[in-house]
Amino acid sequence: MLFATRDLELRKIDFRTTLAPGQIDFMDSGLRQTSPLEASGTAELVNGMDDIRVQGHLSASFEINCDRCLEPVSLPMGDDFDLVYRPAEAEQGPEEKAITGEDAEVGYYEGSGIELGDVVREQVLLWMPAHVLCSDSCKGICPMCGANRNREACACRAPKLDERWKALENLKSGE
Ligand SMILES: [Zn+2]
Ligand SMILES: [Zn+2]
Repeated sequence: MLFATRDLELRKIDFRTTLAPGQIDFMDSGLRQTSPLEASGTAELVNGMDDIRVQGHLSASFEINCDRCLEPVSLPMGDDFDLVYRPAEAEQGPEEKAITGEDAEVGYYEGSGIELGDVVREQVLLWMPAHVLCSDSCKGICPMCGANRNREACACRAPKLDERWKALENLKSGE
């Protein structure tokens, strides 16, 4: 679905749509969409009809791997959004325009308008947390044997570190 400036010049566009998993590429974010994504809202021209503002609500379920143990963690999303897109060529102009709404994030569009899919992808990437743990107490993966230490207590220790400390202690006691 394209929000074309020539259509938006006539009227704002209300949208309500469902995007199946796979319809939007979340690129290398690591996110996997596990439910249909519901997107609804309004697109309109603002700031002297130059900028496209898209506001609305997104809901979907995602999954991402835990930073420490790499097990999948589910991330339900229910998020309001408010994005402003200005023409890419406008940035070359000398005068800066004020942005409508203090909470709005600003992006750029080229050509005849902006695709809903691009708006949705951008908002999901803004929303996703930078770090995800399956739990605060996740013990992660053993760097030596690869065991998930939440599930099994492996017998690995950190012998190198222990030996170094011992060597240091011997050094001290020998003085
Ligand atoms: Zn974990
Ligand atoms: Zn281990």
